[in-house]
Amino acid sequence: MGHQMLLSSRAARFWRSRDLGAPCECLVFFARHTTARLARILAGILLIVSVVLPACTKQKGAAAASPQNTAPPAQAVLDKSALPPDTGPTPAFDANRSFQYIKEIVAFGPRPIGSENHKKVENYILSHLKDDNVEQDAFSITPSQGTFPVRNIIAKFPGTRDGIIVIASHYDTNWPLRDTPYVGANDGGSSSALLLEIANQLRGNKRDGYSIWLLWDDAEESMRLPWYDPESLYGVRHLAEKWQADGTLKKIKAFILEDMIGDADLNIDHDTNSTPWLEDLVYQAATRLGYQSHFFERTLEIEDDHRPFLDRGVPCVDLIDLDYGYNNVFWHSSQDTVDKLSPKSLEIVGTVTLETVRMLDKMK
Ligand SMILES: [Zn+2]
Repeated sequence: MGHQMLLSSRAARFWRSRDLGAPCECLVFFARHTTARLARILAGILLIVSVVLPACTKQKGAAAASPQNTAPPAQAVLDKSALPPDTGPTPAFDANRSFQYIKEIVAFGPRPIGSENHKKVENYILSHLKDDNVEQDAFSITPSQGTFPVRNIIAKFPGTRDGIIVIASHYDTNWPLRDTPYVGANDGGSSSALLLEIANQLRGNKRDGYSIWLLWDDAEESMRLPWYDPESLYGVRHLAEKWQADGTLKKIKAFILEDMIGDADLNIDHDTNSTPWLEDLVYQAATRLGYQSHFFERTLEIEDDHRPFLDRGVPCVDLIDLDYGYNNVFWHSSQDTVDKLSPKSLEIVGTVTLETVRMLDKMK
């Protein structure tokens, strides 16, 4: 995965208060002030409104005219009245089978771009998608370290409704760690295995909803450590440009990114870069399944595979747990191994993802 930018526990508390019914911090704030101070605050608010409101209006106009804004207008908040009734069964997901896939991916060893192991993992993923409609987006890149082949793999499951939901995971491991025992069981392994099991659940069933495209994206990891923006996210950047050019991008209703979702101690972070209404929808899905305690306790700003799609106006959510071992110590280390992971975490993220998809399918 990419890198985090900041931690804000206060923002997390505020965000969670919207759903947990806690008193709004604004009300608490006002209650603590005397009448005289209240008058000054109200005057301040009036000033802010007079300055900010025209600015917002201007931004909206500019966004509507921008060729970058190819997706439907992003909602600021989730319209809960548009949600389907909470009557569906828990989505099917075979967590043990998915966990076995992690073990098999890791058994190939480190899988940096350009390596034999990487080619083996490509073939392993493709071997699970033999009967599916698969698109391969292959190209080469030339960072300062040389020329490397890159391959995005996309499995498409058609639906009855006009529009596409993309569920994505990268599958490469870090090139700078190529000569270490680093196998990325959680980082790249767990999410790639999750997508293989989601494919099993989608296969053979005519979808009553949006088309689902599963994307195993490549060359995600930075060519340098620490993270170096210009030499990272090659696969998704290539695909976002391609899908913008061929008109696919404006059909994408949601981009759901899975990253480091296998940790036995599962805490999916709230990412301030993700689209608020879509992250809120995931939280509603998690709540329906009783898994909400694993979601959005902590707030981070995360740069990850969703960035090129966010930049083009696609609603995105990054499901990522960047609290992997004490102080995230297992991340990008040889300690990122299968023994730190749990099938239960795959089940939680897999079923919440599929419930989110079901809700998107049925939303007005
Ligand atoms: Zn990573």
